[in-house]
Amino acid sequence: MSNFDVVVIGAGPGGYVAAIRCAQLGLKTACIDRWIGKSGKPSVGGTCLNVGCIPSKALLDSSERYEELKIHAADHGISSGPVSIDVEKMLARKDKIVSELTDGISALFKSNQIAFFPGHGCLVEAGVVRVSSDDRTEEILKAKHVILASGSTPVQLPGMAVDNQTIFDSAGALEFSTVPKKLGIIGAGVIGLELGSVWRRLGAEVVILEAMDSLLGTADPMIAREAKKQFSRQGLDIRLGCKVTQVESTKDGCTIRYLDNENSETIDVERLIVAVGRRPCTDGLLGPNCGVALDHKGAVPVDAHCATAVSGVWALGDVVQGPMLAHKASEEGIAVAERIAIGGGHIDHSTIPWVIYTHPEIAWVGATEDELKSQGTDYAVGMFPFAASGRAKAVGATEGFVKILACRDSDRILGAHMIGSQVSELINEAVLAMSMEASAEDLARTVHAHPTLAEVVHEAALASHGRAIHKVNR
Ligand code: FAD
Ligand code: NAD
Repeated sequence: MSNFDVVVIGAGPGGYVAAIRCAQLGLKTACIDRWIGKSGKPSVGGTCLNVGCIPSKALLDSSERYEELKIHAADHGISSGPVSIDVEKMLARKDKIVSELTDGISALFKSNQIAFFPGHGCLVEAGVVRVSSDDRTEEILKAKHVILASGSTPVQLPGMAVDNQTIFDSAGALEFSTVPKKLGIIGAGVIGLELGSVWRRLGAEVVILEAMDSLLGTADPMIAREAKKQFSRQGLDIRLGCKVTQVESTKDGCTIRYLDNENSETIDVERLIVAVGRRPCTDGLLGPNCGVALDHKGAVPVDAHCATAVSGVWALGDVVQGPMLAHKASEEGIAVAERIAIGGGHIDHSTIPWVIYTHPEIAWVGATEDELKSQGTDYAVGMFPFAASGRAKAVGATEGFVKILACRDSDRILGAHMIGSQVSELINEAVLAMSMEASAEDLARTVHAHPTLAEVVHEAALASHGRAIHKVNR
């Protein structure tokens, strides 16, 4: 039996960041994770580093470069020989990035003197955690505080068992050894759009079947419409309002039967990705006498400070309610560590940004117009298109726009919604502004370097006061 101040179950971006912050604050910390990496050895970093944020962005980048060379380089007067993709090499690059980053977290654990226990963690009771290893050994860890950071796992659909041969989950879809001729995807959410973009750019015919009548239900509707227009123009076949009824294996893949507004339809695809959301991962996490029960969505219930109903037991990241995002998990990890060590820690859940790494990228923070309308808030809208930006023209990225919503009374920025190139970076300016409770006037009076894409954010802030400089008055 070993004694610690804090034991963290899960070494994803929630758990490993919590563990590092605890150690920085002088707490004797242990972290448990059962993940086995592609090398067959235990791996830290969770979904994010192993099969999520990082590998998907590596493939998005490879596929963008391929498309750039194949289609867009000619606009610059650049010509080359035939362009081809070596999928094996592309996957090897991705794997190298993943292993460098996961090894980096292991090194951080060592340098912060965090004890890492590979294996499955179970909260037996407050302050007691059992670690079971693959070799069937068990160890009991005791701690004043336990942090549950066990993350999430893909939702599966009945009758569509993932075999990662024909029917894939998101992790399997990062490992295709060849480009499929025809790829079906169920779910036009974040994963469907990002991974659909990767394989379309590399040459697959991609059909995405989405149950809802609109794309990206939580995004600003204007952004969602623009996204649908741009993705369709690129050749992503997104079919809305489709209810999949059956998937049958065939010699060359599978046949998907679905109802498209009550009409029965069928498509044959070589491979199918099921990307219909994720659910909290809690299998074997909570012992029968631990005192923590799950809520109706299978998440660990917590208060606004990530405390569970049991004193000394905390939970954060994807295993609790809220957006399933790596940066949300990490910020909760820091806040919980600070609450444990020094009695106070803070995360502003109203300024958590969303980013979808398609082309164009999509990003938003804060309220949408619909939310402001339903709250009865009087607001001003400032919009500015990338097409009117000198830098956007110079780099050939003129699709999309920035929209800023500000309170008409106080001028405080209430939301920012963006679609365009590099908005994954631009959104952080809006997040900072909102975190500082800045007004649209503050943003409008901030000097932005020229020529940059960030000038579009500046012009949108000016536009919210009707004084954008480069806007044609009609
Ligand atoms: P996880 O990262 O899921 O980590 C939980 C860890 O706990 C895992 O390592 C697991 O092995 C371990 N574990 C679970 N149960 C136990 C147990 N009982 N004992 C021991 N260990 C256990 N988010 C973004 O913000 N940006 C992105 O670009 C992005 N891209 C994504 C792309 C894909 C394809 C996917 C699938 C997800 C993506 N996400 C992205 C979401 C992001 O990965 C998650 O929100 C994030 O990883 C959640 O962090 P976490 O620490 O809560 O959980
Ligand atoms: P999602 O919730 O983003 O999208 C799932 C989509 O599937 C929704 O549009 C939903 O209406 C649809 N759907 C559900 N059931 C369906 C059915 N039976 N038939 C057809 N459509 C159906 O989920 P996801 O794309 O699986 O991603 C899971 C989570 O992972 C995301 O919500 C996000 O939290 C995280 N993630 C984030 C990023 C990022 O930040 N860039 C990238 C990937 C994943």
